Amino acid sequence: MVQRAFNLSPGPAILPLPALEQARQDIIDYRGTGIGVMELSHRGPEFEAILAETEALLRELLGIPASYKVLFTTGGAHQQFSMVPMNLLTEGLTGNYLLSGLWAEKACDEGRKFGSVHVAGSTKEEGYRKLPQIESISRGAAYLHYCSNNTVIGSQFPTEPDCGDVPLVCDASSDLLSRPIPIERYGLIYAGAQKNLGPAGVTIVVVREDLLSRSRDDLPLMMSYTTYAKSASLFNTPPTFPIYMVCQVLRWIKAEGGLAEMERRNEEKAKLVYDVLDSHAVFVPVVDRGSRSKMNVTFRLRDESLEKELLRLTEARGLPGLKGHRMVGGFRASMYNAFPIEGARALCDALIEFAERHR
Ligand SMILES: *Cc1c(COP(=O)(O)O)cnc(C)c1O
Repeated sequence: MVQRAFNLSPGPAILPLPALEQARQDIIDYRGTGIGVMELSHRGPEFEAILAETEALLRELLGIPASYKVLFTTGGAHQQFSMVPMNLLTEGLTGNYLLSGLWAEKACDEGRKFGSVHVAGSTKEEGYRKLPQIESISRGAAYLHYCSNNTVIGSQFPTEPDCGDVPLVCDASSDLLSRPIPIERYGLIYAGAQKNLGPAGVTIVVVREDLLSRSRDDLPLMMSYTTYAKSASLFNTPPTFPIYMVCQVLRWIKAEGGLAEMERRNEEKAKLVYDVLDSHAVFVPVVDRGSRSKMNVTFRLRDESLEKELLRLTEARGLPGLKGHRMVGGFRASMYNAFPIEGARALCDALIEFAERHR
């Protein structure tokens, strides 16, 4: 038996053990072919079956209607910051952005390079400690872009912002598949895999088909959604191994009970940790109560000189990765789908022990 840590890393992040164990076998010999999964041709029947299963599982788990395309791209969420405006921010329209944290801001900055941009709402002045509301939407809005879970500061929208008929575009890199969502409310939703879906290297884009017709046909091929949609993501060599791993993770999610069960677990884990933080004055949660993330729990210490001691304690308890993002400081416990409830309990025990030492 291997000793697995309760890895609190924000991403690349913990993956489900059954997915890794299946991969260990398939890396050497994929289903008796004598060829490892990374060595399979992307045009062969084995990989085509993996790709088809991955898409089918995504459609099933997320309830993706037939009028949406599922695309597998590379370049991470950052490439989507560019592809969204390149494809959807057509002449005369304005990209609307809701600013809730670092990633939302980066998406907005990238949008400015391609056309006119309007900030629909922002809590930057408050250090993003709470979620913004939509204050205004521009006329001729191409879309409203928002980030559902703010991985760095640790906030999360409980529901979709309401932007009426304007296509809603979402960076869901750190919470896609953590809970059921109404996909039909979105024009486009994307997620880099390395937080909650699999390893780094593949980005999932779900887009309503009618939006694809907006893309100019002089875009660089690999920056056009149409290229991926027309070729079923097989225009060039896709990231075959990351896609295979996403497939294993999706199988695991389905076997464990789907997104309703993921949501139940994520709520349970987050509640355990927030309750400990709220009941000990040595801890200072970063984000206002109503805005808190179920994925990334962020907090500081009242006495910041004790930070190293807490990190030493949690690491000694098999809980690596608690250090906060360099822009926020303090601590961040990232507890994605694959992070077990036992890990949340172990973290609570360590936090309580620390609080009692320093009450
Ligand atoms: C991690 C993260 C990103 C950046 O992802 P890359 O794949 O490194 O480009 C963007 N948005 C969110 C919400 C993230 O969590």
